[in-house]
Amino acid sequence: MQRKIGVMGGTFDPIHHGHLVAASEVADRFGLDEVVFVPTGQPWQKGARPVSAAEERYLMTVVATASNPRFSVSRVDIDRGGPTYTKDTLTDLRAAMPDASLFFITGADALGAILSWRDVEDLFALAHFVGVTRPGYELEDDHLPEGAVSLVEVPAMAISSTDCRRRVAEGHPVWYLVPDGVVQYIAKRRLYREGDPA
Ligand code: ATP
Ligand code: MG
Repeated sequence: MQRKIGVMGGTFDPIHHGHLVAASEVADRFGLDEVVFVPTGQPWQKGARPVSAAEERYLMTVVATASNPRFSVSRVDIDRGGPTYTKDTLTDLRAAMPDASLFFITGADALGAILSWRDVEDLFALAHFVGVTRPGYELEDDHLPEGAVSLVEVPAMAISSTDCRRRVAEGHPVWYLVPDGVVQYIAKRRLYREGDPA
């Protein structure tokens, strides 16, 4: 049978339980064999903030997913370098797994941005898109082609990487927001401590 693979793209700076529960829930709902987490390449900057080094984000993603036999991490976007375009991510994964069907998982905030993406038709040809609920954002598919996107309600986790970074910068705990190993990795590498907290 054709393998079903979830693809969870993100900056993962740091990865948190919102990402993990979304992947787990979609995997259950669609009977996915595996979910591949794909940390983005190094943009010049994301908004006004420099993003942590790709290797730090990659390693935190590995630490966070290591205990789940159905989760894995791909380096395609990191190794390509530069800003990540979802079309490139899906094209590379498709080339690596020609027989799999791909399910691209994206939160309600990121799904809204799809509307403004170029090559939307190409994207829908590469993967089925799954939009997941996220507290604080409206999940709607009004402007999307019929049947191209599935909307899935996932357990509500009001967690963002931005908030985790701010908490660390201000000396507040991130225990239970991110996996224990990621708490320890952040402390060990002294991430998010200096400069602009957000
Ligand atoms: P930042 O605050 O830096 O933007 P983030 O928490 O939004 O970080 P990203 O790496 O930008 O995390 O998100 C990767 C993907 O995970 C996106 O599709 C995003 O919508 C989704 N996502 C992030 N947090 C949640 C959450 N709490 N619930 C559901 N989906 C989420
Ligand atoms: Mg985000």
